[in-house]
Amino acid sequence: MPFSESVRIEALVSCQRHCCLCHERVHTRISCHHIIQEADGGENTLDNCIPLCPGCHAEVKAFDPRHHPGMTSYRPAELLRRRDDWYQTIARRMRDLETNLNRSRVNIPSSPELSGEIDFDYSDYNGFHLIGTGLSEFMTRWSGASRDSIHSYTDKTNISIALAPPAFSLKDLSKVDSFNFSSRVRSPRLREFLVLENHHGRYGVIQILGLQSRSHGDNFDRVRLRYWLLEDGTADFTKFA
Ligand SMILES: [Zn+2]
Repeated sequence: MPFSESVRIEALVSCQRHCCLCHERVHTRISCHHIIQEADGGENTLDNCIPLCPGCHAEVKAFDPRHHPGMTSYRPAELLRRRDDWYQTIARRMRDLETNLNRSRVNIPSSPELSGEIDFDYSDYNGFHLIGTGLSEFMTRWSGASRDSIHSYTDKTNISIALAPPAFSLKDLSKVDSFNFSSRVRSPRLREFLVLENHHGRYGVIQILGLQSRSHGDNFDRVRLRYWLLEDGTADFTKFA
């Protein structure tokens, strides 16, 4: 028997779809593994469930230690501890993000609408600008790069960021959760799309429309951008095209 839907959801939310062993975020490729196999009497409970990426899942199931002397297999007690430690790390990270968001929200300029075109000076407020509201709230952070590109950061924000391929438009953004969210800095150029995922797993996209840079001869450090945020937890922006 597989895990019930409620056990799976609880486990996936607790790890935020990061593998409990290597901590990579693997989105739809994560699977819920039995710590003690059902054949050995393992139950379909949350306590016996560990979310793993395909690579770690294969490692855990790879071999029987009795036939591979010198190799160290994963034992249930280790998997349990690794899983619990990781759930705690995720929970702590969520609390820190909420605290940070609450503390900073007060002073930082915000655009609460779920879509719109905005224009702001990215040298103010340490580059922070808040877009959206509620579960679809995204703290963005920026600094100047050039007249045709700008740096976006994840530091002290609640978001992960990815770049859409250069020629992409909204009609191509049907599965933004498959993009690469592994870096703390991305530098979209004019017309390109930056993809955001916040700590609630909601997605947004930003298109850079205009840039001014004091260090490149302009009188202001300004960015003009258009953004779209999804409230439903999906990663498909083609309906805005
Ligand atoms: Zn893994």
